Amino acid sequence: MNEPIICRVALAIPLHKQFDYLLPAHMVKDNSMTLIGCRVLVPFGGGPRKQVGVITATPKESDFAIEKLKSVTQLLDKAPLLSTPLYDLLHWAAVYYQHPFGDVFQQAIPTLLRKGKAAAFKTQEYWKLEQDGFDFNQLARAKKQLHAATLLQDFPLSYEALKGEGVSRSTLNSLQEKKVVAAYEQMPSSNSTWINNVQELQQKPNLSAEQAIAITSVTQQLNKFRCYLLEGITGSGKTEVYLNILKAVLEQGQQALIIVPEIGLTPQTIKRFQARFNVPIYLKHSALNEQQQLDTWLHAKQGSAAIVIGTRSAIFSDFTNLGLIILDEEHDASFKQQDSFRYHARDFAIKRASQESIPILLGSATPAFESLNNALSGRYHHLFLTHRPGNAKPPKNDLINLTGLPLKSGLSPQLIELMQQHLAKNNQVILFLNRRGYAPVLMCHECGWLAKCQRCDAFYTYHKSANYLHCHHCMATHPVPEQCHDCGSTHLHSTGVGTEQLEETLNQLFPDHPTVRIDRDNTRKKDSFNDYLNDINSGKYKILLGTQMLAKGHHFPDVTLVALVDVDGALFSNDFRASERLGQLFTQVAGRAGRAEKKGQVVLQTFHPEHNLLQELINNGYGDFSRTALQERKMAQLPPFSFQALIRAEALNATQAENFLTLCKQTLNQIAETNKIADRLLILGPIAASMERRAGKYRFQLLIQSEQRVLITKTLNIALAYFEKLPEGRKVRWSIDVDPIDFI
Ligand code: ADP
Ligand code: ZN
Ligand code: ZN
Repeated sequence: MNEPIICRVALAIPLHKQFDYLLPAHMVKDNSMTLIGCRVLVPFGGGPRKQVGVITATPKESDFAIEKLKSVTQLLDKAPLLSTPLYDLLHWAAVYYQHPFGDVFQQAIPTLLRKGKAAAFKTQEYWKLEQDGFDFNQLARAKKQLHAATLLQDFPLSYEALKGEGVSRSTLNSLQEKKVVAAYEQMPSSNSTWINNVQELQQKPNLSAEQAIAITSVTQQLNKFRCYLLEGITGSGKTEVYLNILKAVLEQGQQALIIVPEIGLTPQTIKRFQARFNVPIYLKHSALNEQQQLDTWLHAKQGSAAIVIGTRSAIFSDFTNLGLIILDEEHDASFKQQDSFRYHARDFAIKRASQESIPILLGSATPAFESLNNALSGRYHHLFLTHRPGNAKPPKNDLINLTGLPLKSGLSPQLIELMQQHLAKNNQVILFLNRRGYAPVLMCHECGWLAKCQRCDAFYTYHKSANYLHCHHCMATHPVPEQCHDCGSTHLHSTGVGTEQLEETLNQLFPDHPTVRIDRDNTRKKDSFNDYLNDINSGKYKILLGTQMLAKGHHFPDVTLVALVDVDGALFSNDFRASERLGQLFTQVAGRAGRAEKKGQVVLQTFHPEHNLLQELINNGYGDFSRTALQERKMAQLPPFSFQALIRAEALNATQAENFLTLCKQTLNQIAETNKIADRLLILGPIAASMERRAGKYRFQLLIQSEQRVLITKTLNIALAYFEKLPEGRKVRWSIDVDPIDFI
């Protein structure tokens, strides 16, 4: 009876190995308790340090002698932390993405839980009236105190809530001294009573026929798994579709999860959700503090959150009764985590919906080719919004051929002229240039020397106002040299145009039309992006200049001209996804023009106006462009018509990185031979990455490709055990990326 229990524990370590511990019987208060899925605190790796892990099994026997096993220090949960479907799905993800389960589990839970804190709300400071029937006239001359006391007249409020009403701590303290109010600690309320009172708070527009069809397609089949792709041009009313489907789900008493690329960049969208329903909405994103993240997680898990809106990792939220997942801007690259656990939130979300037997809606004006292919082949249900509601007209598209034109910081005379016309009508203009800094290169005009980062195969970007050279790959900075490193000449000039330089030029060309620059260099400060958005909407700025930060989801009613200053780089990239990204970028940026009553115009400057891709985009739009480009992918047997995994290795010594991958390749080949799948598994490499050296390390990669996903998964599952034992692996940093989207 009092025998300790053997527990297998998964820890957040980079190895696919789990460890056995003994759980002393006295820690288990109730014998019927499920241990699998509970967190434990255990000693690990000698020394006093303890680690948080999760119990994955309670085997009868251990591979090690019982007396050698260490004891669990503390059992952290009284019940499994996650629901069984979610826990099982994390196991699937660990296998599919070739990532250790212990780390998958840890990344899926809020930071405080990772650190071993209890899965419980923190008490909050509340204030209440001390005296029943208090005579408010006593405070007639203390306006602030009167205000605070009146707020507390009917029921107590949390300090946060009082602060939100403009009550300061000193006011509360004064009232406390007079014994009018008192503070106490209490758990925040977390009940699910919202279910009984779901209301729309706003009048909503009359739906278009297409919107109505999209909405009923989903709402008539709630409570079962189906994946929908809502392909709707920018400004066609996708959000309105989401809101209507949400209503049906909430009215059934079910919760909804909404995944968006970046919450900080889309405050307007969040506000629309909050304004529509009288239900509790919680946000999950990285700007929240750890306690707030945990609170959101708990509200979702206990059913007191009706809606959770979050970025990528919100897909791991646990719910009492989830009824719908919406993934907005589903093409967005931020849904793929690019390091350690390299999952794709879209793919995980679809698995999740399938397991929970609920609908999932993917929405985009520019669907990812993967999703589009699934919709075209009938695996997803395809919904369309092809028109903008009301008077909003699709913009007019034009190409400007730059060949032979005199340019001012990359601007052609035609574009400058167009800007003048639009500005003269008191409209706003967006210029889009995806290159921050003053200039992408600093060059010697005597000998052609280029200032190159010493640690990367990349040039330094010149930042004029900060007055330094900056490598955008390893983040190194370097003082601006006075002289050429090769010939000593002082004739150093910058070449090419970045946003900082374009801003300078715009200020000269349009002194009466203020320009605002929006890129990562000047939006670092908290709230600065939001402040800019407000100033843009109030009309303080007339010219908006930005990198792709400006491309996402904003609604600027007075913008009538959008220009892409330089897109040629994407036309001649060796990344097969570059054209897809350009198509998406063009369409998203173009979507910022003419969203309201005013007709918009989109202009693209290029030295290659004849390029078939640009012609498709300009003349026929993303819909046609993407379907043509998808055919090209099919011919080349590239994703989504095949599947890939990438093994990356980097080391200070190039040979070591390459050698390790050569050994990996041999292992993979052997496994493929043994399992008679060699003819269906393509293994390419090792080759140097397109940026071979970065931050001082040499980088190589090995590509595995197959038409059958499962062959890659299974082969890698077997191979991993060998990879982890290769002594050569200890000299390099290596990783596996399943379904990679970035090959740099
Ligand atoms: P998307 O999400 O597709 O970019 P939105 O949902 O933001 O589009 O809609 C664009 C604009 O059109 C918003 O201002 C929205 O309020 C408005 N809108 C949406 N649907 C309708 C409709 N049926 N009638 C009138 N206006 C609508
Ligand atoms: Zn020189
Ligand atoms: Zn560098």
